[in-house]
Amino acid sequence: MSASRKSASKNSKAVAAPTGSRLPLLLVALVVLAVGAGGYFWWQRGPAFVVRRDADQNILLVTIDTLRGDALSSYGGPAETPHLDALARHGARFTFAHAHAVVTLVSHTSILSGQLPYEHGVRDNSGYRVKDGTATLATRLKALGFSTGAFVGGFPLAKRFGLTPGFDVYDDQMPEMSGDKTFSMPERPANEVVSRAVAWIGQQPGKFFEWVHVFDAHSPYRPPPEFAAKYSAEPYYGEVAWIDQSLGPLFDRLATLSRPTTVIVTSDHGESLGEHGEATHGMFAYESTLHVPLIIATVTPRESRSTRGVVIDAPVRHMDIVPTVLDAIGAPADTTMPGSSLGDLIRTGRGADRPSYFESMTYNLVRGWAPLRGVLVSKDKYIDLPLPELYDLASDPKEAQNLAASKADRARVLLGTLKTYNMAPPSRPGRESADAVANLKSLGYISGSAPARDHYTDADDPKNLAGLDRDLHTASEYSQSGRTQEAIALLKKVIGMRPDTADAYMSLSYAYWQLGQPNNAIATLEGGIKAGAPDRDIRIRLGIYLAESHTDYQRAITVLEGLPESDVEALSGLGIAYIDAKRFADARRTLQKALVLDPTNGLALQNLGVNALSAFEAGGAKDPALLKEAQDFLTRSLKADPTLAGAYTAYGVTMSHMGKKGDAIVAWQKAVELDPSDSNTLYNLWLELARAGRRDEAVTYGRQFLVATPPNFQPQERAEIARYIGR
Ligand SMILES: [Zn+2]
Repeated sequence: MSASRKSASKNSKAVAAPTGSRLPLLLVALVVLAVGAGGYFWWQRGPAFVVRRDADQNILLVTIDTLRGDALSSYGGPAETPHLDALARHGARFTFAHAHAVVTLVSHTSILSGQLPYEHGVRDNSGYRVKDGTATLATRLKALGFSTGAFVGGFPLAKRFGLTPGFDVYDDQMPEMSGDKTFSMPERPANEVVSRAVAWIGQQPGKFFEWVHVFDAHSPYRPPPEFAAKYSAEPYYGEVAWIDQSLGPLFDRLATLSRPTTVIVTSDHGESLGEHGEATHGMFAYESTLHVPLIIATVTPRESRSTRGVVIDAPVRHMDIVPTVLDAIGAPADTTMPGSSLGDLIRTGRGADRPSYFESMTYNLVRGWAPLRGVLVSKDKYIDLPLPELYDLASDPKEAQNLAASKADRARVLLGTLKTYNMAPPSRPGRESADAVANLKSLGYISGSAPARDHYTDADDPKNLAGLDRDLHTASEYSQSGRTQEAIALLKKVIGMRPDTADAYMSLSYAYWQLGQPNNAIATLEGGIKAGAPDRDIRIRLGIYLAESHTDYQRAITVLEGLPESDVEALSGLGIAYIDAKRFADARRTLQKALVLDPTNGLALQNLGVNALSAFEAGGAKDPALLKEAQDFLTRSLKADPTLAGAYTAYGVTMSHMGKKGDAIVAWQKAVELDPSDSNTLYNLWLELARAGRRDEAVTYGRQFLVATPPNFQPQERAEIARYIGR
């Protein structure tokens, strides 16, 4: 990809500059930059930045998802990022900061808890939830009298994943998205996240801790038109520049407060952009994804931007962020934490060496590949895989030269260091009870969540499997651009090559589901379980498809019942199956559990409404309290997510039962506006409008029904409507 080519040429320029002819050019560039940035020589002015030690200050943590360590212009990157560069210019900019993981939830849990992945226990996005009782910046600062607010922009950090404790407000409003979240997930744009974060600041009477997470740099890269045009060759950097512009009002707002704010900016992981054969992130842990930016600055009302920025090249880690904040506000250090404050390092430029543990477990968990772990000691990096890797990042920052064989002694020492961390296989989410395993066996499934293997060969090394990962990404792109048959062919090829690739079965079944072939979708998932792929996510999806296709609710219940009750989607699927089985009390109990995990989940609220409505319709007594219950849940559901067509449909049916035909029509009109293919609701609309004598509108929706419904479906209704239109 062009990005890696550009980075490489940038690098060679940096090496060439000090040796001669290019030096004057570089100086000219610096002067122009400095004048452009405010007309003064910033590197000479003011006292050097130190972290403010003050109990009475605000703390702002900004995490920019998927931001490479070298993307910001203050880091020499190609994106124009004036707002973040201004922070760096007056604060501390770390050039050698590292994450402990390369996927969102794992890394954020480390940032917010100060713990390593094996300590907090979250090893992947899917299937894990932060343990209750985990101490985070939010719980710690809340206890110290701070108001606490979180504003997150991407699905992997939604409420359901358990980072909410300690936050007064946890704002994760995003459009609901069903289906395949492997490569593409719900998100909301940075400017929306920031505008809510800024509004919240205005409501805080005292000191606050705010966390702002923006997700735009995550693939797919689709910056707004202005940035898309400017960065047409490299839309990823267009997203980065757009994020910087969106963050501007947040930093501006801080400068108007009476209290100073310590600001910490980092990313959870980077993005490979094709380097080392990886398209995005989550497979390897090379510097393109493990190296992160880290900027710490203070924004004050008066003296803002008067300090001289410092650049720290010493190694630092995400786990140092929580201790740094505790130090800044004068709270006692927590000696159980593995990291330590960066305050003294910033002040003196010196400190003890900070070795760093890292891992990438996703493909071990979902594809059975070798687990990836490693350690950074000063500028040496060791990656423990069946084919081990050793890099000297000081001379080889792009990790082009594996020294594991030529410097075997150094590799052995670093492996020894790595072994001082916990090397036990990750405990897998969703370990079933013995009963559940027996139930699955009775359905002919062999459970794939057998204990993790303890031996992996070269064939399991991700370096030998990168081509397969590329195929899976290509299949996802085919799928998203409507080339479903090509996606299906490619996914089948992947499964043929490596039958334990759980996410290939998931994507293949989703393709069939999208094509309106639920039986193929279900058979694909069953095939994955039988082939011994890690089966937790497959089972959840299987249960949901069985439930949502209304083909076999009993089988759906058997598949879903044994799963631990920590997954919103599994609970929702089980709730739907219980509704079909007319087990309304079980459905209510199950869906309420989903709501406990995710209190503003629109779909869970919708399903609770549908459950009450179904109980009303099935009951002989026609209990009006059930209608009231349905109305309440559906109203809350639409408040949480106004794009839920199904909630409007059910709301209309509820209104109709209450005799409020006008309200029913309005709700159904909204439903078919959102989902023009919903033939049942189109029929309902036609019928009520015809009964109300509103012929023109009835004809419109009647025609829409005839278009939306295939000729051999619902023949009676088609004939009825055709007669009405012809009259
Ligand atoms: Zn992320």
